[in-house]
Amino acid sequence: MKIIMLGAPGAGKGTQAKKIAGEYNIPHISTGDIFRANIKNGTELGMKAKTYMDQGLLVPDELVVDLVVDRVNQADCTDGYVLDGFPRTIPQAEALTEALKKLGQKVDYAIDVNVPDENIINRMSGRRACVGCGATYHMVYAPTKQEGICDTCGGELILRDDDKPETVGKRLNVYHEQTQPLIDYYTREGILHTVDGTIDIDDVFGAIVKLLEA
Ligand code: ADP
Ligand code: ADP
Ligand code: ZN
Repeated sequence: MKIIMLGAPGAGKGTQAKKIAGEYNIPHISTGDIFRANIKNGTELGMKAKTYMDQGLLVPDELVVDLVVDRVNQADCTDGYVLDGFPRTIPQAEALTEALKKLGQKVDYAIDVNVPDENIINRMSGRRACVGCGATYHMVYAPTKQEGICDTCGGELILRDDDKPETVGKRLNVYHEQTQPLIDYYTREGILHTVDGTIDIDDVFGAIVKLLEA
């Protein structure tokens, strides 16, 4: 089962991708997490990516595509995977389609988690990320048991720099210009499924399971 998550920043792609990965025992591959891990480790890729991420811009396609193609070719991906945050541009989608075609494979589901712009700023200002393990919470909708402390690893929670309101507006513009066209792309491929991302986290997941098992 090869799944792509689409949706605006803050729509809940990561939240749902982790639940899907857990339910179906397939890897969750988040390009945002991969870049943040590279930044934390001070790699060359991380340093390059950071200059774009801090501005709310997309990292150039050439820094992303090979990384993902290599990742989906690893042994743990043979039964499928859930891609979160990739593809984000038409060239990335085309590169993925081509790379999979060479292996005689294709993406099975593109799931668009639909949340209107009005809800996004609110979502992002409440999102908190663990500096230790990268787990994501929300101050209101997905709180930790103890305030400010990660349930999983006990790490400190922070508001991501790129989740500050001034950057979120820019990321939304980038989403509409560069990523939203993927909805048409995957509609044409015949694999697009849309779920309402404004309802409770568990209800969104219920809708996803229903479509995957239809
Ligand atoms: P969100 O959770 O808000 O959707 P991500 O964690 O997926 O954000 O991504 C954070 C940032 O990392 C993006 O704003 C972008 O700069 C960069 N990034 C992640 N994935 C990609 C990608 N596929 N192509 C280009 N840039 C990416
Ligand atoms: P994305 O990966 O699309 O950027 P996240 O999964 O990180 O989005 O979710 C963004 C924020 O909104 C997080 O703080 C998350 O806990 C919260 N969130 C996710 N889904 C929902 C939902 N259905 N209702 C309310 N809050 C949600
Ligand atoms: Zn943690």
